[in-house]
Amino acid sequence: MIKLLLVEDDPQVRSMLSETLRQEGYEVVEAANGREAIAAYKASPADLVITDIIMPEQDGVETIHSLRRDFPQAKIIAISGGSANVRGEYLLGTADALGAMKTFKKPVDINLLLKTIADLLGAKT
Ligand SMILES: [Mg+2]
Repeated sequence: MIKLLLVEDDPQVRSMLSETLRQEGYEVVEAANGREAIAAYKASPADLVITDIIMPEQDGVETIHSLRRDFPQAKIIAISGGSANVRGEYLLGTADALGAMKTFKKPVDINLLLKTIADLLGAKT
């Protein structure tokens, strides 16, 4: 089974996305911040990581940087809506520069996200 690591601090967004991904037949491991995500990835690498950017404990930018450094082959998708003072485009641009393979603005277009996951994994369509 293809395993996805979903990193998102908002419990509602996380459960909505994970439910959708499970319905698509993916195994989904959830993490509420970057620190949890890195620990989960080290314990058992996922086929693809989907990470929010703004999160407590460890944000998505640091998480992508850390994953890229330790696991150069990691496949990463970044999602963000930005914050009150930082535009989402800026954060996603940073994520892209660090090695996220795709970036999505919130609210995420779920069909496009599913297609992108399938494309990056080169399996399902
Ligand atoms: Mg967030």
